[in-house]
Amino acid sequence: MAFEFITQALRQQQTDSLLRTRAVCNEAINFSANDYLGLSTHPDVIAAWQRGANEHGVGSGGSALVTGYTHAHAALEDKLVEITGFESSLLFNSGYSANQALIKALLNKNDLLVQDKLNHASLIEAGVYSPATMKRFKHNDSNHLAQILMQYRPQHANSLVVTEGVFSMDGDMADLPAISQQCKGHDAWLLVDDAHGFGVLPQGHNSLKQQGLLAADVDLYMATFGKAVGVSGAFVAASKEVIDYLVNFSKPYIYSTAMPAAMAMCIDKALTIMLTETWRVSHLNQLICYFKQQCSLCNITLMPSDTAIQPLLIGDASKAMKISQTLANQGLLVKAIRPPTVPLGTSRLRITLSANHRIEDIDLLLTRLKEALDEK
Ligand SMILES: *Cc1c(COP(=O)(O)O)cnc(C)c1O
Repeated sequence: MAFEFITQALRQQQTDSLLRTRAVCNEAINFSANDYLGLSTHPDVIAAWQRGANEHGVGSGGSALVTGYTHAHAALEDKLVEITGFESSLLFNSGYSANQALIKALLNKNDLLVQDKLNHASLIEAGVYSPATMKRFKHNDSNHLAQILMQYRPQHANSLVVTEGVFSMDGDMADLPAISQQCKGHDAWLLVDDAHGFGVLPQGHNSLKQQGLLAADVDLYMATFGKAVGVSGAFVAASKEVIDYLVNFSKPYIYSTAMPAAMAMCIDKALTIMLTETWRVSHLNQLICYFKQQCSLCNITLMPSDTAIQPLLIGDASKAMKISQTLANQGLLVKAIRPPTVPLGTSRLRITLSANHRIEDIDLLLTRLKEALDEK
C-alpha cells in the first residue's frame, strides 16, 4: 500500500472537527465574502467583461511576454500606478502567485526574510521554500521586528520585511509607520500585502494612505482584485526597475498564461466605480460602526477591528462549526475559520460586511447571532 497518509489525514481531520468540505453557495445573505464593495455583481462591471469578451475573446492566448499583453492590460497597469502612486505595476492571475513570485525573485541564499506571524499562507509558504533565512515577528509588534533586524540584519546581504496591511483573519491593521521606520533604519525593504485594505479603507483606498504613508515609504505593494475589487487576479506595484526585473526573471509571471484582456477591462471598470461611487466605502464604514456598536450593546465581544472583517472568537472548532451551521439553516452565511488557517484554539466566525448589505441585514444577523450564542 502506498500513500496511506491520505486516508489517515482525512480521518484525523474528521476526528478533530477540522474536515474541510465545500458547500455549494445558495441564496443566503452572505457575511463571509470578501466582496466588500459589492462590485462583483455591479451591472457596469459585468457589462465591461461582456464587452471585453466581444472585443478580445475570452482567453489571452499566452504569457504576457508572448501574446498576453494588450492595450487593456497596459491601461489597467497605468491606472494602478495612478491610484497607488508607485512608479510601475504588474498584473498577476492571483495574489497567491504574486506573493510567491516576489519572494522567489527577490530573495537568495544569503538574504533575510522577516514576516509577521499572522501573514497569509501564500507568504509564509513562499518563505518556507525560499533559500533565504526566514524569521517571524510577533503579530504587529514593531519592537520584536526591531530586535530581529538588529540581530540578523548584519549577516545578511538583502533583507525583506513582509506584513499585511489589514490582516485577513483578524481584521486589524498593521502599524505601518512603525514598521516602515524600522525597515528604513535597518536598510531592509518592506512589502505590504494589502489584499484586505485595497478599496476598503476610507483614506485613499489603501493601507498606506490610510496611515499617512507615501508610496516612497514602502518598497513593494501588492493587492488582489478578488477582494474589494470584486473580480479576481492581483497586482504588484513598485519602482520601474523592480517591475522590469520581475518581467525578466519572475517565473510565475513569465511562464503563466496572462489574465484575459476582457478581465483586465472588467477590473478597470471596477476600479473606476471604486473611485467614483464613493458612497460604497462610506456606507460600508457606517455598517461597520453600526455592527460594532450593536454587538457591544448585546454583549457580543468581537475581536478588535475597524475594518470590514469583524471576527467573533469562539475558540473550539466544533462549536464554531455548530454556530455557523445554525446560522446557515436560517439563511445567513457566516463561515467558521479553523486551524491551521488560524492558531489552535482560536476558531472563529469570520464575519465580513459589504456595501451591498442593508441595516436590516445587519439587524437580522445580530438577532440570529445572539440566539445562536445563547443556545450553546
Ligand atoms: C486572498 C489573499 C491572498 C491571495 O490572493 P488570491 O488572489 O485570492 O490568490 C494573498 N494575501 C492575502 C492577505 C489574502 O487575503
